[in-house]
Amino acid sequence: MSSDLPSGIRWDAAIADLLALYRRLDGDIGRFARRCRADGECCRFGSDRPMLYLTALEAAAMIAAGCHIGSSAAGAFSPAAPSACPFLDGDICGIRERRAIGCRTFFCDPTLEEERRAIHERYLREIRNIEARMGIPVFYLPLHEALDAVGNILAGK
Ligand code: SF4
Repeated sequence: MSSDLPSGIRWDAAIADLLALYRRLDGDIGRFARRCRADGECCRFGSDRPMLYLTALEAAAMIAAGCHIGSSAAGAFSPAAPSACPFLDGDICGIRERRAIGCRTFFCDPTLEEERRAIHERYLREIRNIEARMGIPVFYLPLHEALDAVGNILAGK
């Protein structure tokens, strides 16, 4: 991703900081993690399923992964109908290194959820600090809305 996009935001530098943050988070979450079934169920959303929320920086990092975003993204998404994350590749994450805090701290097994939530909140505050330093807009939106909003910023709309 170029750093001279219309928004003037240094996205490359901000995303590098975010990826370093993710590596630290992975170290911290390890002892609170539960077994993952790796069936992609937590990456499929709808009215009766938990939704993934994203900061602008997390959404930008996902878009910058350069993956094709499928038809479930943004406009095609309806909260009333189940819809998969556009980065889900079969049953596994297609952008694992860039998956969001919510992806890293959510497990179907609720054991130790409080501890994971505390880590989630701590790292979310750190992302806010990066965003403030880099002049990145602040929001926390459902996945598809966040991708749409950041896509518009990157397109200079
Ligand atoms: S980014 Fe990856 S882990 Fe997160 S919801 Fe999408 S497919 Fe699942």
